[in-house]
Amino acid sequence: MSTNAAEERAILYDVIIVGAGPAGISTALYLLRFAPHLVGRTLVLEKAQHPRPKPCAGGLLPDVDRVLEELGLDLSEVPHEDARWSYFEYQGKGTPIRPVGSPFAFHVVRREEFDAWLVRKARERGIVIQEGTRVRRVIPRPDEVEVVTSRGSYRARVVVGADGAHSVVRHAIAREYRAGLARAVLIMAPPRPGASPHKEDEAFFEFSCISEGVPGYIWDFPSHLQGRPMRCWGIYDSAAVPGKSRRQIREYLAEELAQHGYRLEDYALDGAAIHRFDVRNPFSASRILLVGDAAGVDGLFGEGIGPALGYGRIAARAIAGAFERGDFSFTDYRERVLQSEMGKVLSRRALLARLIYRLRSPVLQRLIWRRLSFLVQWAVQTLLVDWAKRELGGR
Ligand SMILES: Cc1cc2nc3c(=O)[nH]c(=O)nc-3n(C[C@H](O)[C@H](O)[C@H](O)COP(=O)(O)OP(=O)(O)OC[C@H]3O[C@@H](n4cnc5c(N)ncnc54)[C@H](O)[C@@H]3O)c2cc1C
Repeated sequence: MSTNAAEERAILYDVIIVGAGPAGISTALYLLRFAPHLVGRTLVLEKAQHPRPKPCAGGLLPDVDRVLEELGLDLSEVPHEDARWSYFEYQGKGTPIRPVGSPFAFHVVRREEFDAWLVRKARERGIVIQEGTRVRRVIPRPDEVEVVTSRGSYRARVVVGADGAHSVVRHAIAREYRAGLARAVLIMAPPRPGASPHKEDEAFFEFSCISEGVPGYIWDFPSHLQGRPMRCWGIYDSAAVPGKSRRQIREYLAEELAQHGYRLEDYALDGAAIHRFDVRNPFSASRILLVGDAAGVDGLFGEGIGPALGYGRIAARAIAGAFERGDFSFTDYRERVLQSEMGKVLSRRALLARLIYRLRSPVLQRLIWRRLSFLVQWAVQTLLVDWAKRELGGR
C-alpha cells in the first residue's frame, strides 16, 4: 500500500458519494452550488471506468433539460436524437403525446456518452471522482460512516448511495427496504424501411403486452451507435403486478420484433433492473442518503435518468442544511423527497403502475389507449411530467 493511498483513506471526508452515474454526479454538482465549501472534502467512488456501458434506452424528458440548464450544462455537447412525438398505443392505435409547449417528446442519448460527459464536466469543476473502486459495505458509526471498498476503507461524515438498482449502500439503511425491481431489455438495430408505421424521428410505446401478462410496454426509439442512425427496441416489465417470467418476456419481444422484420437472435440483447419508487421507503438513515435508482425511480415507464438528476438536487440541499445545523440525522429527507415536485410525480406514477398494469382485459385497455386517449394525454401532460418546470421554473 502506498503512503499516499493510506493517507487518503485516513482523511475524514465531509461527503462520500458512491456511484458516478447521473444521480451521483448530479448530487456532486448541486453540492458545488448549494455548499461549495464541502466540495474540497467530497469524494465520488465509482466501481467502473467511464465511459462505462449501461443498458438503457437513453430517453431524456424535458425535465432533464431544465436540470441541466440550472447546472449550467448544455446537452448539445452530447450526441443525441430528438423524438418529436411519443405514440402511446394499444395494438397499433393510440395517441401522439409530448409535454405541453415542448417541440419534442424527449431526447435520446447513448448512456456511455452522456454519463462520461457528466463525469468530465464534474471533474472540470473540481469534483474528485475515483474510478475502479467498488464499495463493498457501508458501516454507520455514531460520528462518521466507514466505507469499505476494494481499495481499503474510507471515512465520511455523510455518505450518499448513488449506486444504482442493486445498491450496496441501501443495505445500511434498512433490511426491509422495499426493493421492487422492474426489468427492461433492449437491442440496437439498424432502421429498416417500413419496419415502423411511424416516422424516423418518432418513438412509440406499445401497451398490448399488458393483456398478455407483461405489465409494461414495448418501445421503439430513434437512437445512434458510433455515429450511425439506429433504432432502440426494448421491453419494459414493471413487475408492479405479477406477470410473465424473464424468458417469456424475451419471447414476447422476439414475436413483436418479428412483426417488424427483425430477428431477436441477430442482435445483442442487453438488460438490467430498475428499482421502483415506493412511498413507504425511508430513503435515508443517520448520515446516509439514497438517490436515483438506489432510492427508487419511476415504476410506470421505467424513467430513471431525470429522477436521478432530480434526487441529486434534493440530496445536496439536505446535506447543505445538515452541515449548517450540525444535525446529520436526515430525518427530514423522506419528506423533502415526497414533497418535491419530482416526488409527487414518482408517487402518482407508482400508483398508476399498480392500477393500469392490473387491467389485463383487452376491452379495458382498448378503451384507455384509444377511446380515452384525450384523458391519457391530459394525465401525462399535467400529472406525470414537467416536475422540473414546476420546481425550478423556467420555460
Ligand atoms: C434497459 C433499460 C432501459 C432504460 N431506459 C431508460 C430511458 O429511456 N430513460 C430513462 O430515464 N431511464 C431509463 N432506464 C432507467 C435508467 O437507466 C436508470 O434509472 C438510471 O441509470 C438511474 O441512474 P443512477 O445514477 O441512479 O444509477 P446508475 O446509472 O445505475 O449509476 C450507478 C453507478 O454506480 C456505480 N456503482 C454501482 N455499484 C457500485 C459500488 N458497489 N461501488 C461503486 N460504484 C458502484 C455503477 O457502476 C454506476 O456507474 C432504463 C433502464 C434499463 C435497464
